[in-house]
Amino acid sequence: MENMISGKTKLLALIGSPVGHSGSPQMYNYSFKHLGIDYVYVAFDVKEDKVKDALDAMRMFDMRGCNVTMPDKIAASKYVDELSPAARIIGAVNTIVNDNGVLKGYITDGEGFVANLKDNDVDIKGKKLTICGGGGAATAIQVQCALDGIREISIFNKKDAFFSRTLETAEKIKKEVPTCIVNVFDIDDESKLKEEIQKSDIFVNATIVGMKPLDDLSVVKDPTVFSKEQVVCDVVYNPEETKLIKDAKACGCKTIGGKGMLLWQGVAAFKLYTGCDMPVEEVKEKFF
Ligand code: NAD
Repeated sequence: MENMISGKTKLLALIGSPVGHSGSPQMYNYSFKHLGIDYVYVAFDVKEDKVKDALDAMRMFDMRGCNVTMPDKIAASKYVDELSPAARIIGAVNTIVNDNGVLKGYITDGEGFVANLKDNDVDIKGKKLTICGGGGAATAIQVQCALDGIREISIFNKKDAFFSRTLETAEKIKKEVPTCIVNVFDIDDESKLKEEIQKSDIFVNATIVGMKPLDDLSVVKDPTVFSKEQVVCDVVYNPEETKLIKDAKACGCKTIGGKGMLLWQGVAAFKLYTGCDMPVEEVKEKFF
């Protein structure tokens, strides 16, 4: 690694807290080496109240950019100079690019979701989506799908703290993309969930259900609701194959797990920083 670093090496980082577990430094540094480009990627533990200082430091050290993870995504969106359309609508960023002191914030989670579907030969244009969830991952998916031409989105969430955010997201999408139909329902209305799933091309779980310790659960209690023409996706990537994915597979559906979304949101960020394509096949094989 020392041999790669020169006086001109461009610095990228992940900020958030905690960051020690992240696989991003290995994935990015491997890709830089593979492509022979002069960048290095590190991780900085930055608590939410220090995000402004971190972004000022980015400008001062002329860092090329940074990825932003929890809990810093919303705070970071407030201290950048410009926002991409998706980041503006969502009010959060996961990628910041520094162009000569001007920081532009993007959110590539939704792009990662759409790119992962494309990688699995699924085109979202003109389709109907039913999605459970109103948190960070869900909102990014809903906004990006609307921007990318999905026809209709039915969102189901618990009547918890995320429900009002879900209603707000629906209103924002309707304002920004008037051609997209958006409905919000209570996830406990099981007959409505069943009805909406049956009318959908794509179903997505974007809640924490399915993730440890909720790994023996699925948001869809009766999987016979699925038909084999449907695509069923989970954003949860640990475990790699959730109960939802297992159930949908048993119904003959095309299934797409959460790992690919993680890969493709990184691919989108990599392109924004470097202008180069991440060596996707090698990265997939080595890290996913
Ligand atoms: P979040 O905390 O922002 O949102 C949590 C969501 O889960 C909310 O909609 C909440 O209402 C819902 N929820 C919580 N308990 C529930 C229950 N018992 N029943 C039904 N719904 C419930 O979380 P997030 O950041 O959006 O992450 C959600 C999942 O997505 C996590 O598993 C995370 O690891 C995963 N994720 C994956 C990717 C990826 O690239 N694949 C990216 C981001 C997040």
